[in-house]
Amino acid sequence: MSGRTATDEQDPGAGEKVALLDLTHSQLQDWVLSQGEPRYRADQLYNWLYASLASDFEGMRNLPQSMRQRLGERADIQRLVPLQDILSPDGLTRKVLFALSDGESIESVLMRYDDRNTVCLSTQVGCALGCTFCATGQSGFTRNLSAGEILEQTLHFARELREEGQRITNVVFMGMGEPLMNYEATWQAIQTLTDSRGFKLGARRITISTVGIIPGIERLSGEKPQVGLAVSLHAPDDRLRKTLAPITRRYPVKELIAACRTYVERTGRRVTFEYALVDSVNDSSQHAAQVATLLQGLLCHVNLIPLNPVPDSPWRGSPRERVRAFHQELNRLGVNSTIRLRRGTEIEAGCGQLRSRWLGRQGGQNCLSS
Ligand code: SAH
Ligand code: SF4
Repeated sequence: MSGRTATDEQDPGAGEKVALLDLTHSQLQDWVLSQGEPRYRADQLYNWLYASLASDFEGMRNLPQSMRQRLGERADIQRLVPLQDILSPDGLTRKVLFALSDGESIESVLMRYDDRNTVCLSTQVGCALGCTFCATGQSGFTRNLSAGEILEQTLHFARELREEGQRITNVVFMGMGEPLMNYEATWQAIQTLTDSRGFKLGARRITISTVGIIPGIERLSGEKPQVGLAVSLHAPDDRLRKTLAPITRRYPVKELIAACRTYVERTGRRVTFEYALVDSVNDSSQHAAQVATLLQGLLCHVNLIPLNPVPDSPWRGSPRERVRAFHQELNRLGVNSTIRLRRGTEIEAGCGQLRSRWLGRQGGQNCLSS
């Protein structure tokens, strides 16, 4: 857990600027007060950052010139630098590789639909959990992102969309990393995104995807506001799941499903299960029957996604007929499921893939539509 924290940022070293996006509303108030400004200036600043989507201090017209100048000297709004920006041929998926201030890089994706604009966010540089089909997992773990680094991915796309009179309507934590292994920063970012004094995104429009970190799911079940939960299941039993998601050794499937049942009981919301279909590995009708037994009586929906193959990995995506047969079998057994379209494979829109290539490796993870 080596991510910068808001507290670190409040007390930067000599000459180091404060990253304003790393601060909660009350931390921003404290900081503004420490600068000798009245408290209400913090509300104005917060509004500029998250309602007006300001990217510099100059345009903050209701702040005195002297304060704007001091802000410019002592604080930062923008820390992420786009290194690559790729648009899919149909213009509906945009993927950006960002450089962080320490030279690391992350990816984020904007997916446009008729009725919504969904941004897919990264929460870590790399991931420690090593799923065998995932480019991010194969690159290992470097560090957690701070709340500000998570938020700034969203603000980047929100500013772009505003030019067209549009806004971000949905946020999915399905980019690089495991959000529940970076709980504090992820939750702080969610609180800022849903704050009615700023970005005003409905919590119902936010989904956290997890490989199945049970303590994180339990914690999430008790949080307010309630956000959506997606669990990357991929296999119905421990033996098979361990080969795809080694974290199964620590969090076995049955306990994971029990935690999901608790989430549903406490929140009244259904759980989404992601199931990447891997050719001849987890895609037989017996597997479908096992999944149906496992999920019996649970308020849930299953998203079926043919695996996006990762070079140097033995796994391949299931052929179309298998995907269709699996889907039909699940539905016949009473489990709601949908075959998901994969967005932007032509622009390496698997999160982790663009970064891997940038780093001179190869790979492919999937940022899924939700
Ligand atoms: N760590 C979290 C969120 C990031 S991964 C998690 O594992 O859920 C986001 C989604 O992409 C997960 O459902 C993951 O299983 C899926 N994914 C990763 N690599 C993939 C690939 N090569 N093909 C299809 N889906 C993949
Ligand atoms: Fe980490 Fe999720 Fe990739 Fe697994 S699928 S390695 S948990 S990012």
